[in-house]
Amino acid sequence: MYAQKEIEVKGQNYTVQYYLSENRNAIARIKENVISITLPRRWPEKERTNAAYNLEKRMIRKLVRPQTKINAIPDNLTDQQKIAFARNSLPTVIARVSELNAQHFNSKIGRIRIRKNLTNWGSCSSKNNISINFALLFLPQELMDYVIVHELAHTKERNHLHKFWQIVEKVLPNYKDRKKELRRYSLSN
Ligand SMILES: [Zn+2]
Repeated sequence: MYAQKEIEVKGQNYTVQYYLSENRNAIARIKENVISITLPRRWPEKERTNAAYNLEKRMIRKLVRPQTKINAIPDNLTDQQKIAFARNSLPTVIARVSELNAQHFNSKIGRIRIRKNLTNWGSCSSKNNISINFALLFLPQELMDYVIVHELAHTKERNHLHKFWQIVEKVLPNYKDRKKELRRYSLSN
């Protein structure tokens, strides 16, 4: 490595490291928070500087670009199949909400529904009616549990402030991983 600098992309710090090699081509890689740019030693300095600049820009663009999300809902389902699937899944969802509520919250719950046109994975109304996004039915149980716990925690705290997340964390110590995992999926198709 012959040079190194720190940059910030979307509030995240990255180290850019520059290497020289005997290769013919310039290459750039990102691994965790390190961007490494390897340039051919044989290139004139001006060319190397240009290549480094362009590669760095390309890597930053890659970091800024939102990742494409996975559709949670399989796209080969007819509307009728979706309705049937939601209907069949409802008792299981209700049972899980009740179970987690009894174990950790003991809140008075209103209606529990599965809904298709939610803009979130779940919601909890002021009357403690809990809605679960239809798309969630297709995701792993641990993500379903995270959303259920999240909504149940809203029966105690109506906001997303520190105290709210403390409640979630008490029930699911690894909730941050689940929350992050959930971000990989899109809730519509
Ligand atoms: Zn929330």
